[in-house]
This record gives sequence, structure tokens and C-alpha cells, in this order.
Amino acid sequence: TLADELEVPPTHDEIAELTVSFNKMTRKLKESFDFQQQFSANVAHELRTPLTVLNTKLEVIKRKNPELDQESTRFIDELSLQVGRLIEMVEKLLQLTHEYQLEEQSTILAEDLINSILPDFSESIQEKEISVTVELGEQELTGDLELLYRAFYNVIENGLKYNVQGGSLTITGTETQDSSQFVIADTGIGIPKEYQDDVFQSLFRVDDARDRKVGGVGLGLAIVKKIIEAHQGTITVEDNQEEGRGAAFSLTLPNKKEAS
Ligand code: ADP
Repeated sequence: TLADELEVPPTHDEIAELTVSFNKMTRKLKESFDFQQQFSANVAHELRTPLTVLNTKLEVIKRKNPELDQESTRFIDELSLQVGRLIEMVEKLLQLTHEYQLEEQSTILAEDLINSILPDFSESIQEKEISVTVELGEQELTGDLELLYRAFYNVIENGLKYNVQGGSLTITGTETQDSSQFVIADTGIGIPKEYQDDVFQSLFRVDDARDRKVGGVGLGLAIVKKIIEAHQGTITVEDNQEEGRGAAFSLTLPNKKEAS
């Protein structure tokens, strides 16, 4: 039987053969992954210019025809919205396919980084009446600050986007000898457990119907993961147990002191 056959230990030659095939497979996989990355980057790059032109033309049409009938205005607004979405997707695809090399590393107080992000969202914070709490003490962040800014920006943006009216967003940190952990917790619609690993994949959205109203393309967290991993860190998400609803993202970064 097959079970008996499997009990026979493989010979040295068989193991060697397997190793060779395995290495070949790994190489092929990497090649096809690189190809796909390059392909996405090229397509995104090619799409950027015509989409930007389209967007500008739509604006000009609107500006030059203030007397347009209601239906045409509605069409143009709808078109602008869709083109805007495509542009966002192209920009994010370009960010995602970019190879991050951390050349410019420096250190900043984590609180300062967060406080430079929050004003960008002051409108939606006010509109949704979200109470924002930042408790980071003297914790520092070391790395490519522009990239770290983008990573925290995307997670905070989600914590507001998927939040409920009158909800809260809490950013806290803890530090051990080797690493710094940051938790960004919201009280929004949350992420079902079965999808908590998937949200970091490109183009993944929990539920298109649920998320379409909110806007977005499903690339933000894939970018965050890439940036955090480029810093040898990790990112995970779980339910926000403290509040009984919402999502809590944990970003862990190794403590490095700035090279002097
Ligand atoms: P998007 O542009 O769709 O927000 P992301 O990559 O940032 O893309 O997130 C992927 C998906 O994960 C979202 O579409 C949403 O379904 C879910 N998600 C991300 N953050 C949150 C959050 N804080 N609360 C609830 N769902 C979230």
C-alpha cells in the first residue's frame, strides 16, 4: 500500500534529487513573483499619466460649463470620483511595488510622528466626533521616517475610516529592551477573525459592499506590512478586546539606536 511505501526511508539520491527540484521551484517562484511585481509597476506607471490628464480635463469641463444640466453634472462628478479612485490605486500600486531600501534612518519621538499625522485627519475626526488618545511617553522610533510616517498614516486612516460616529481611536506603546510595540485600536466595525490575516494582502477588502461606501482600494495595509517588514518589524491585528468592539493593530519594531 501507499502507507507501506511511505514507510521506506528515502535514499540519499532521492533526497538530493528532491533538494535540487525544491531549489529550482523556489527560484521559479521568485522569478515569477519578481516578474509580476515589475509588470504591476510598469502598468501602474503607464496608467498614471493618462489618468491624471483625464482628471484635469474633467475639472476643466466642469469649470468651463457652470450652466451644465443636473444630470451631466452628476455624470461628471461620478466620473471624477471613479478616476480619482483609479489614480489612488495606481499611486498605491507604485508604492507597493517599490523596493524599500532604508538608506535614510533617523530617530524621532513616536508621539511627534503621530502628532504630525493627526492634523491631516482633523476634519474627519471632528465630523465623526472621534475621541483620539495618544499615550506614547518617551518612546522613540528609528528608521526611514518618511516610510514610517506612511505606515502609521495608513493604519490611523483606517482606524478613522472604519470607525463609528462618536467612537474612539487609541494609540499606545510599550517598550522592552529589544523592541517597541505600538497598538492602534479603534471602536469601529472590526474585522471578522477569519479575515484578520488576509487584510494585509494586496487588494483584499473584507466585504466589498460593506467597504465600498468607505472608499479605498485594499492596498493600504499591504503597503504598511511591506514598510514594517523592511524595518525588520511585524504587524498583526486582533479584535479590540479593551473596548469590546473594533480592531486593534499591533506594530512591533526592533529597537535600534541610530548609527553614529
Ligand atoms: P482599504 O483601502 O480598503 O481600506 P486596506 O489595505 O487599508 O485597504 O485595508 C484592507 C481591508 O481591511 C479594508 O478594506 C477593510 O475591509 C479592512 N480593514 C482595515 N482596517 C480596518 C479597521 N480599522 N477596521 C475594520 N476593518 C478594517
